Amino acid sequence: MASDFSLAGHIVRRARLAGSSVLENGNPFFAPLDRLQAEAKRDGGPFTSFANYDYLGISDHAAIRDAAHQALDRVGVGALGSRLVGGERLIHGTFEKALAEFVGSESALTLVSGYLTNLTTISHLLGKRDLIIYDELSHNSIMAGVGSCKATSVEFRHNDMEHLRHVLSEQRANHRNCLIVVESLYSMDGDIANLPEILKLKDEFQSWLLVDEAHSIGVLGKTGRGICEHFGEDPSRIDLIIGTLSKTFVSCGGFICAQKPVLEWMRFLLPGFVYSVGLPPVIAAAAGAALQVIKDEPQRVGKLRDNAVRFLTKAKEAGLSTGPAEGYAIVPIHFPDMKTTMMASDHLLKNGIYAPPIVQVGVPKGLPRIRFFISARHSFEEIDRTVETLRSFSASLSKSPAPELA
Ligand code: PMP
Repeated sequence: MASDFSLAGHIVRRARLAGSSVLENGNPFFAPLDRLQAEAKRDGGPFTSFANYDYLGISDHAAIRDAAHQALDRVGVGALGSRLVGGERLIHGTFEKALAEFVGSESALTLVSGYLTNLTTISHLLGKRDLIIYDELSHNSIMAGVGSCKATSVEFRHNDMEHLRHVLSEQRANHRNCLIVVESLYSMDGDIANLPEILKLKDEFQSWLLVDEAHSIGVLGKTGRGICEHFGEDPSRIDLIIGTLSKTFVSCGGFICAQKPVLEWMRFLLPGFVYSVGLPPVIAAAAGAALQVIKDEPQRVGKLRDNAVRFLTKAKEAGLSTGPAEGYAIVPIHFPDMKTTMMASDHLLKNGIYAPPIVQVGVPKGLPRIRFFISARHSFEEIDRTVETLRSFSASLSKSPAPELA
């Protein structure tokens, strides 16, 4: 723990040394978004954020605000209890039914956090005699679930189907049940899981499959229904589809889509559901309204895709390093080291573009980057200006390399 604190101090010191002047104390982390927006407005400059999950650009949609206001007036803010014993509200069931229908699953269950959803589901589904195989670039919430699970756990190389097959061939026969865990759209690299191949392997090795669709609902597929719509696969072939309400649904919370009996079991036995409060009704109402907006305004999904492809194409043309990103809502730009990443982020902010650095802790030490969350809200002009700002920053670096920092 102590070393974590000193690492945090080290990162902030480096950011300050990198010359951050726009942010308070030169610290690029925890900058209040509303303050940055207000300051840009006051100074009459442009302001574009690529730091937020609002993929379809609906966070200020009137229908979502209205739904939240009405729920607030009707039932108040909180659920006031575990849903099992007092916290159940009509809006929970209504929203879960609509969510399951949208995703194409038999049933859905919501929890108070996306992180908690992965943690509690993965850690409680399997026992000592079981096996869990997960992609090495899985989100921390998946890792936390794997870490507290009693099953044998083995990681496979990122998106490497040959390696997944190898691990299954070596390990599957020695265990009772097997769960394969992947994300659909990877949150730090912006590439997509090879679902058709994973489904084949899952069937061949009689395993279960959990797919974390945190970043792909509203993003993948023509109407934003996620990775199954993208590949033309049947969602019922995935045993557990996990999602979050904090991204496309612009609110907060997590959900599990699965067959009814599985979720009936979870309603009584999943610790993160049973021993935690139900989703606040205000949030459930807002997320429900967001779902309706996604269904009513599918053109937003197309606009997001156009924007993401434009960002990626322009970035590649500018010679920037985008790693394996495929042009779906998340595009990272890699820099050679932490200090250059910090300087690039600061340079963007000085030009009215907010995209914080992602350095060690969030990603491996040698792979710092700035992650751009693309939104349907962005204009081509904003995207082009952002890529141009990055290009000119990189060009200035090659002329005079970044000064060495302590
Ligand atoms: N899964 C993935 C892949 C994520 O990226 C995140 C958070 N960014 C979560 C789960 C957790 O979701 P939440 O922030 O809604 O708790």
